Amino acid sequence: MAAHQEKKLSEERKHQNMQNGTKASQGQWGRAWEVDWFSLASILFLLMFAPLIVYYFIMSCAQYQCSLTDPLLDLLRGNKHLSDIWNRTPMLTYRAAGIYSLWVTFQVVLYMYIPDFCHKFLPGYVGGVQEGAVTPAGVVNKYEINGLQAWIITHVLWFANASFLHFFSPTIIFDNWIPLLWCANILGYAVSTFAMIKGYFFPTNAKDCKFTGNFFYDYMMGIEFNPRIGKWFDFKLFFNGRPGIVAWTLINLSFAAKQQELYGEVTNSMILVNILQGIYVLDFFWNEAWYLKTIDICHDHFGWYLGWGDCVWLPYLYTLQGLYLVYHPVQLRTAHALGVLVLGLLGYYIFRATNHQKDLFRRTGGSCRIWGRKPEYIECSYTSVDGARYYSKLLTSGFWGWARHFNYTGDLIGSLAYCLACGFEHILPYFYIIYMTILLVHRCLRDEHRCSSKYGKDWKRYTAAVPYRLLPGIF
Ligand code: NDP
Repeated sequence: MAAHQEKKLSEERKHQNMQNGTKASQGQWGRAWEVDWFSLASILFLLMFAPLIVYYFIMSCAQYQCSLTDPLLDLLRGNKHLSDIWNRTPMLTYRAAGIYSLWVTFQVVLYMYIPDFCHKFLPGYVGGVQEGAVTPAGVVNKYEINGLQAWIITHVLWFANASFLHFFSPTIIFDNWIPLLWCANILGYAVSTFAMIKGYFFPTNAKDCKFTGNFFYDYMMGIEFNPRIGKWFDFKLFFNGRPGIVAWTLINLSFAAKQQELYGEVTNSMILVNILQGIYVLDFFWNEAWYLKTIDICHDHFGWYLGWGDCVWLPYLYTLQGLYLVYHPVQLRTAHALGVLVLGLLGYYIFRATNHQKDLFRRTGGSCRIWGRKPEYIECSYTSVDGARYYSKLLTSGFWGWARHFNYTGDLIGSLAYCLACGFEHILPYFYIIYMTILLVHRCLRDEHRCSSKYGKDWKRYTAAVPYRLLPGIF
């Protein structure tokens, strides 16, 4: 029933948007049409400071053993000038440029030219050509889902090289970490700038573009919804998953190799970070088709936020724990290590099980069992722009009865575990949990604002039935 109604709505949207492509018809999607001063101030802040924040974190590790306060204190006390820090920073090298170009080219080849074979032999895995959600202009894009395959091939080659080919040292990523940062920035800015120009002059789908008239906002949040080159090279899918997320586990492996080289052993904390983040990355690729329906792909446009973020922010800041452990090889006591492992697995379980419950509930229109029982839900309705009424259901049992975004809570528990693996000596490895909390709380509020305008009084009934957002009894 629900699936039928959603389909009807999709058809309706398709028809509606193909006709006009106006603000009204796109109102439910993605970023804003009008820019308020707060949004503008935030994006200007991020455009100016996000690259500096990344540099500051990486430089602190390279020059100050990962202390975030020492560089500032040195500058404030006059012990150092900015130029001293800058002069000690490795510059862009031909070697790094070569490694990075080869890496990105390799990922493009895997993405574009090797159709998925994993779905042919892995039971339960959804790969190959899949459809995304309906775009505001009523387009249903097709995607070649082959991220798991790209991840496997890349990692098999990595281990083959480390074990017997020996073409390059497994510490190669760590050894070129700052020169590679400049390469990642060049790609991040190039792709965002290209996406902006493309949005103006040759968009993939003109009706899926949004222009606010504010250059900085459009540059940051993107103009095109799904920029593509040719039929298959989709900017969002490529940059969201590869090269950044495929690289995540390789970066961690390189950090582990560096520990081995420097100290003759890999600490249990490093192993934990590799395992827990490895599970998260594999989950991403195993569920790549499902990610086509998440907010990143369904609502966000492609601009600097995604382009630069995927190239620089993600690989450099999501891997801070591994980097930190190269400089501080923490060997955890068994109880501490076990605690981190249990917390990490618990977080992952909640994250995956919660997402799965909603997916199952929506896919079957409620004809399923959640924790062995018939699901409980709130019937709700909403009206499309032409005044037609549609019906949907909001799950209120299972994890969705505990809180309205318990999937985010699971994600946060897992993120905390990565940080706790690094001990308590420095704040730097805890950046990840701080950042994820801000990201997911903001995302939760953004999503609820959208759902509230979509479902109206039914959303109020739902929030009365499930009063907490992330933590039952607290928030
Ligand atoms: P969700 O998967 O939570 O999707 C939210 C949508 O689900 C709502 O807009 C609504 O859509 C529907 N919905 C809300 N409540 C219910 C309910 N009770 N029953 C049925 N449907 C409901 O959000 P995201 O796409 O943001 O996140 C997906 C996952 O990705 C999360 O686990 C998150 O932690 C993770 N993530 C990780 C990031 C990272 O950097 N590591 C970044 C972002 C996300 P509708 O209009 O259809 O009703």
